[in-house]
Formats: sequence, structure tokens, C-alpha cells
Amino acid sequence: MEKNKLVDEFYSLVQVDDPQGYYASDIKDNDYFGMPLEAIVKAEKRLRAKQSGCIAYFSMEYGLATSFYNKFTGQAQLDPANRAPESAVFSNFRVADYFFVLQQNNIIDLPIYSGGLGVLAGDTVKTMADYNLPAAAIGILWSSGYFRQRFWFKYGQAPEKMRWEPNTYPGLVPLKNRIKIALKTGDVYLRLWKYYVYSRAHEAVVPLILLDSNIEPNSKNDRSLTDQLYRSDNISLKLLQRVILGFGGINALAELGYNIHTYHLNEGHAVFAFIAKARGLDKDGQEALKKQFVYTCHTPVEAGHDRFNFDELNKVLNKEDVETIDRFGKERPGTANLTLLSMNISSAINAVSHNHQKVMHIQFPAYKDQIQYVTNGVHPYTWMSQEFQELFKRFAGTFPDFFANPMILSRAAELKNDPGFRGQLWQAHQANKTGLCKFLEKWKLDKNTFTICWARRVAAYKRPSLILHDISRLARIAKEIGPLQIILAGKAHPNDNLGFTYINEMLDKVDSLSQDYGKLRVIVLENYDISLGKLLSSSVDVWLNNPLPPFEASGTSGMKAILNGVLQMSTVDGWVAEAVDRKIGTFFGYKNSEGSVGNESDLHMNEDSEELYSALECLASLYYRTNQNGKVDTGSQWIDMMIECIGAAAQFNTYRMLDEYKKKIWRIA
Ligand SMILES: *Cc1c(COP(=O)(O)O)cnc(C)c1O
Repeated sequence: MEKNKLVDEFYSLVQVDDPQGYYASDIKDNDYFGMPLEAIVKAEKRLRAKQSGCIAYFSMEYGLATSFYNKFTGQAQLDPANRAPESAVFSNFRVADYFFVLQQNNIIDLPIYSGGLGVLAGDTVKTMADYNLPAAAIGILWSSGYFRQRFWFKYGQAPEKMRWEPNTYPGLVPLKNRIKIALKTGDVYLRLWKYYVYSRAHEAVVPLILLDSNIEPNSKNDRSLTDQLYRSDNISLKLLQRVILGFGGINALAELGYNIHTYHLNEGHAVFAFIAKARGLDKDGQEALKKQFVYTCHTPVEAGHDRFNFDELNKVLNKEDVETIDRFGKERPGTANLTLLSMNISSAINAVSHNHQKVMHIQFPAYKDQIQYVTNGVHPYTWMSQEFQELFKRFAGTFPDFFANPMILSRAAELKNDPGFRGQLWQAHQANKTGLCKFLEKWKLDKNTFTICWARRVAAYKRPSLILHDISRLARIAKEIGPLQIILAGKAHPNDNLGFTYINEMLDKVDSLSQDYGKLRVIVLENYDISLGKLLSSSVDVWLNNPLPPFEASGTSGMKAILNGVLQMSTVDGWVAEAVDRKIGTFFGYKNSEGSVGNESDLHMNEDSEELYSALECLASLYYRTNQNGKVDTGSQWIDMMIECIGAAAQFNTYRMLDEYKKKIWRIA
């Protein structure tokens, strides 16, 4: 195609709002912020075609790890507001904490996610692009992101408002398209933005459409509806954020002229999309509409199921909409439940692991026949470190088309007796670990010291402080078996008082270990995000995962770790329950009885910390038999387990996951 014609075609399909010509230097010839423009034009045309069979994927949050995979480049200098923030560290080596901060020298992740749900959505959309599926993703442009975490000594977490600059974020463009949602309380206007999720290898993209209420002529109140992800400070805000995603998403798809065949609700947050589509339909019409909706449920935890009372709904929504909610989503008189609503309006429902399916079957017996499961995965090329990608390239005989087919990693076992592979595998790991030690150099980590990490959202069922439950025992292990380095990180939702308490407790306990610094280093990092997630999950020796079963629906951070040969120390929950037969680490802890949904408030801290410490002793001993201050036994069972991890990664990735969504949920060839 002629070059200028391509740009013209792009601008005719995508109405970039750019009166100043600001984006002209980044959108030219066949180039969109450093990526081929042609792929966008192709995708935009296909979405508008009559029989596109397109999937619209709705999610409240997207973790796109924009700096790791097919990143955009911009001509303009990086806006300081879009630079990754400095993060303080809280450790038992107080001096360093006082004098130094961590600085990642890259662009921030697109700050429109809070945790695992968003990361899963981002990895899903990337894989849709890798598969060249006709799809569009819908989300919200959170103008203050989620929040910025600060630690205050002896106080805990102090959440701060986050600032970033969407207008200068490479690859993100505002559109001229405005849509309106009509509510009882008045009209709310939304501006649309676009961000393209690329698969360079496949010359394909999936557009992500982001909704933004921060425009004229909205009232001050309405302008703040899309400022911060998961605001729960008042119920009407919480409701309106969901209404914007659902109603706004449907209006946006219509405004852009996309032909949607399947609406995928990634969590019940998005279910108002159905309410919008159901307007004007009679009973039969609504029944027929259900065939177009599918729903993924992501948590068995009570707080994950949104409920609204009908008085609240009546204040905002018109009569017809409330009637539809009443028909499909009434849990009991006066209360609507978005999980029930989502299940009742969907033709396919899935849990996110086999265990989670079992729990859902108990929680929702009436839906037993409909609830399937598709275990979550991680996008391999986002989460696999450069060192490991290169390692697999060097062994192309075993992993020939690894970049097209990550499932080929299942052949790792064939290299078990290859001393060359074993040696290089260890070296690749040590290279990653050296990078982590460099990043934390002021805290004087050692690359030949056993290092374990717990990093995730701070929620009660994830038991953030389990490893610190008995600090004298921990110090004893470090003294008797060998030094330990422990890295912890995670944000607690600003309105979650319990999560808050956990961080406080963590900081207190770490502080009390300052005498033990010589043998036991504990480091708590501020602002756990995707960049830190990738660095940590690919560089430590052991990934700690200790949720209380059965509340971790899937979990994905351990999957990132196994892609990089990092061993697991985990309770048996979520995806891990599907990997217990593989020798990828050590499993421990409480097992809930099959046939029960468990008790969220009985955390089994005493018993499980006992088991955790025993598991830690075993793994640390094995580690020090394998690596004696740099003298490495490459015949060690440790390396057998690293190889098993890589083999297991063939299963726990988004390629396997998408194959299952295609077959079981979207029912496409
Ligand atoms: C992967 C990831 C998560 C999800 O991890 P879980 O194991 O599901 O808790 C959360 N936050 C970030 C930043 C991640 O990278």
C-alpha cells in the first residue's frame, strides 16, 4: 500500500483528537509509535466488517506491562509524570533505607490496573493479538491510576494520589468520539481513547478502548468518576464506575461501528453491558441476547461479589434497566448481586482453575452444569526474562519454534541429562539474580544467598505475614542452615483496614529483626507493580505463595516464576493444585476438605507457619548443598526441579488458556 494513503486511511478510521498536530511525528508513513501502522488499519477494517465474529472483552482493569513487550516509542521526551516513581524500601538494614530509594528508569506501566485481574486481562489481550483474533477490549482510563503506596515508619501504608499524563503516554491517543450515557441523575459524557495491543510477530493488533469522564460539560463530580480504580468510599461511586464500563462500553462499540458477536465479561463489574443491550427487547429477545454473553468469575472471596440495593439502583438507573436487573440479578428482596446477574445472563460461565470450579459448584449449586473452568495463564513473552529467552534460543534443537509455540517448553525434560543445559540454566538464573542484587545493591544482597520472595496484593486470605509469623524461628533457620534473604512487596486496597494492619505488622516485625541482619535480610519494597513483579518473579530462587485454600481462585505470579526456572514454595490452591504432581518445589499447609467453601476468617496461621518453616528448612538446605558460595553442583536435584518448572510452564500460559477459551467459552474454531 502506498505510504501516505495508509496514514490517510488510518485517520479516516481512527478520529484522533489532535488539533495541535501533536501526534503527527509519531503517526506517519507506516509507523505508529514505532509499530507498523498497517496492522492497525487491517484490524480496524476487520472490526467493522459485516461478519467479523468479533469478541468484545470488558474489564475494569488492564495490566499491560507496556515496557516489556512490543513497547511503543515516542518522539517526544518522556514526560516526568510518566516516569516510574521512586520507591522507598523498608528493611532490617535501616541505614540503607534511610539514605536510598529505588529508581526504575523506565516509563510507568499504563496505570489502569491494581493487581492480578488486570494482569490477566492484559495478558489475555496480548495473546488475542498473537492469535490474530478479531477482538476489541474495553476499559477505563483511570486518570489517577490506582494509588501510590508510601510506607510511614511505625504507621504502615499511606496511600497517595497518583498522577500521570495520558496525553503524552506513547501509543495512547485521545479520539474525537464522545458518547453519552443517560442516567436519572443526568447525562454523563465520555471521551474515548485508544491504545493498541500489538503482536509484532503476527503483525496483528487488538485495540483497547478506554472511557474517560474527565471532560466538559460533565459536572465536577462526574468528571471524577473515572479518576481512581475501585473507589469504594461511597456506594454510588462504586455503582457508577460499573455503569460507565457497561453502558459506556456498549455505546463506544456502537459509536466506533464495531460488529460484535461475543461480549466477554471479565468479572461481574462489566455486567451492565447486558442491561444496555437488553433495552427494548421482549423476553424472547433477552433470551436470545444471552447467547452473546460469556462471563469469567475470578474469586470465591465474599468481597469480590458486588451487591447493590435496589434503592441505590433506582436513584441512578431508569425503570426499564432496573426491571432487567430485577429479573436476572435479584438475590433477595431489595438486593441485586452482580455475580448472580452475570451468571443469569451468560451462555457460558467459567471459573479460573479446576479448584475454583469446585468451589463455585458448591457456592452456586443451581449453576453446576453451566460453570466450566479455564485455568489462568501468563503471557510467556512478557514474563520470561531475556536471559531465559536466549537460553531457549541456544537450545533450538529441543525448542524449535518456541516463539510461535510456547507449549514446546514441555520438552524441557528431554534436556535433563544434558550437562550443558543444566549449567547454562543455572547461569541464566544467576544472571537474573545478579540483576536483582544490582537493583538492590544498597541493601547488599548476595547472589549466592538463598533468596525467597512473597509479592502480591495484600489481602487477608493471601496471608502476607505468614513467613514472619515466628521471627525467632526464622532467625534460627538462618543461623543453623544458612543465611536467608527475604523480599516482600504488595499494596493493600486503601479502604481495606485489615490489609493496612498487615503492612503495619510486616514493617514492625522486619524492624525487630535488625539485630539479625548479618544472616537474615528482610526487605519490603514499596509500590509493587508489574516491573517489580517481573524482576522479582524471574530472579529470586524461590517464589512463596501461601494463600489460605480454597480462596485463591487461580493466582498467576507463580506461573511467571516457573517460566524462569524459579522454584515454588506454595500451599495447594488455585493453579498450584493442578501442578502438585510435578516436582516444581515444595507444597505445604492447610488443605480444605473437598465439598466445603472454607472459612475466610480462620487463617490457620500457627499450623501453616510451622509447615512453612519446615518447608523452608528443606529448600534452604538443598540450596546450600547445590550452591556453596558460588561452587555449584549442577547435578543437584535443585536443577532437576528448575527443569520441571520450565516443563510445567508449557501448560500454565495464556496460549493454552486461549485455546480453551476458544473451544469452551467463545466456541470458535
Ligand atoms: C502477576 C501479578 C499479580 C497477580 O499475582 P497473584 O499470584 O495472582 O497474586 C498481581 N500484581 C502484579 C503487579 C503482578 O505482576
